[in-house]
Amino acid sequence: MRSVPALSPPARVKLWGTRGSIPVPGREASRYGGNTTCIELRADGELIVLDAGSGIRPLGVALKQEFQERPINLSLLITHAHWDHIQGFPFFKPAYDPKNEIRILGFDGAGATFREIMTEPMRSPFFPISMRELSSKMEVTKLTEMKFSLGKVDVHAAFVNHPGVCAGYRLFTSTGSVAFLPDHEPYEFFLHAAAGQPLTPEHAREIARNEHARLVQFLRGSEILVLDSQYTDKEYQSHIGWGHGSVSSGVSLALEAEVQKLLLFHHDPSHDDNMVDTMVEFARELATNSGKPLQVAGAKEGGEILVEAKKVAAA
Ligand SMILES: [Zn+2]
Ligand SMILES: [Zn+2]
Repeated sequence: MRSVPALSPPARVKLWGTRGSIPVPGREASRYGGNTTCIELRADGELIVLDAGSGIRPLGVALKQEFQERPINLSLLITHAHWDHIQGFPFFKPAYDPKNEIRILGFDGAGATFREIMTEPMRSPFFPISMRELSSKMEVTKLTEMKFSLGKVDVHAAFVNHPGVCAGYRLFTSTGSVAFLPDHEPYEFFLHAAAGQPLTPEHAREIARNEHARLVQFLRGSEILVLDSQYTDKEYQSHIGWGHGSVSSGVSLALEAEVQKLLLFHHDPSHDDNMVDTMVEFARELATNSGKPLQVAGAKEGGEILVEAKKVAAA
């Protein structure tokens, strides 16, 4: 009789901040949440946090409760320097505890090193405590490679279409992969941007085609894709070049890359819960009409998604 290998426990994704641009407290955002970008991944013994928007504050509170006197050892991956992706870090309690180890990783930005991106917002007169004064064991690492590992989790990075320098990450756990692209505008932007630029329309089309193909390849077969879908299709038309995506561009990217589950993310601060519901319904319709088995949901603060190991039938 053949022994069946034990399945790894599922990777767990928890959403702590799903809003884009600025936190929006209040009843109208109570279901999808008002905190800015932060998600947590637990997989293969690693604790990985993606982005440090205001959602990292309640994550810090929850970690303190869970670990009590035990040390917390985590990696924090930052996509880019915009406020909504770093503004919560000064309020992340585990950074103030000497027994904790925190590795912060990200790429240099446009006109700022990665270290500056993390330390400058905490400098006087912007904040009373400097990063140097935080008592946890902290390591700020500038990424230079597009492939690296955090323990047993392999990470692939790709630069996406967003003002300045912005990375997307795909994390390969033993039970499946999770792709995180919180801010990204579809590459068709180049077609609009070509007007009045030195770029010829043919050259613009070629860049858009190549960059899009590169991104589809990067995402191909992801179990979960957390993707910028900030605008309705109509809103996108008046926000071309702002660096964010629309519902239908998000669905078509997920379909083309044969993703299993798409989470609409980076909700616009002016969209209340009902509006996001409507956008999710529309996205589901598009997915159903495609005939492909793509699942779609709106990313909800406090929500958890498990990535289960695939049960391979014994031959
Ligand atoms: Zn953002
Ligand atoms: Zn941004």
